[in-house]
Amino acid sequence: MATVFLFRDDPYLFETDAVVTAVNDLGGIVLDRTNFYATSGGQPGDSGVLVAQDGAETAIATTVHPDGDKTEIVHVPAEDQGLPSVGSRVAVRIDKARRLRLMRMHTALHLLSVVFPFPVTGGSVGTEKGRLDFDMPEVPEDVAALEAALNGFVAADHPVVTEWISEDELDANPELVKTMKVQPPRGQGRIRLIRIGTGAATIDLQPCGGTHVRSTGEIGRLRIGKIEKKGRENRRVSLFFEEGKPN
Ligand SMILES: [Zn+2]
Repeated sequence: MATVFLFRDDPYLFETDAVVTAVNDLGGIVLDRTNFYATSGGQPGDSGVLVAQDGAETAIATTVHPDGDKTEIVHVPAEDQGLPSVGSRVAVRIDKARRLRLMRMHTALHLLSVVFPFPVTGGSVGTEKGRLDFDMPEVPEDVAALEAALNGFVAADHPVVTEWISEDELDANPELVKTMKVQPPRGQGRIRLIRIGTGAATIDLQPCGGTHVRSTGEIGRLRIGKIEKKGRENRRVSLFFEEGKPN
């Protein structure tokens, strides 16, 4: 049975409850539904805790899709944890501070891809730092201006919204694809799009399965770090929160 992905509709659902449907040979825990995001698309899986009805806690170190099966989510316990029993109900609590930073940085990387208008070849999201790799033969001359543009998007507090469309709708609206830097995945019927800004004032629109903040103001001020050469055509751009490391 596929896990219901609660974080898709509400990334701010930091606590919920669920039923344990399986515990695999490695101690990985499968729930009927979860708010824990599983590692994919450069965003790390959530950590947190599962709490049984008798109060017993199982610390979760990370969350993954087993064998690349994106319909299933496995909660991976930290070392030496007691495991909840199959069929029992547990409280499901995300490490909220960590996830919020990942949401802020993930959304910030969408903005980074706007100020660096080049094809994205890779990326990763961290709690202190994010990065995108671009197919960008030359480094833009005025990186300070790009950083100012980035912080302008943050200050303008643009809404970040999730939209679902069918592949048929997408085919009927080819201009939608044209505005996207990343081609949507095909073959699953529905495509999840993340729009930053509204209507004609849309700043960014791309298919994405990750978790994002509600509006760009929540990201906070950003600082563009090193731009490293990674191969002849590739440049890696690092991004940091201006506030620095978490406490
Ligand atoms: Zn995203």
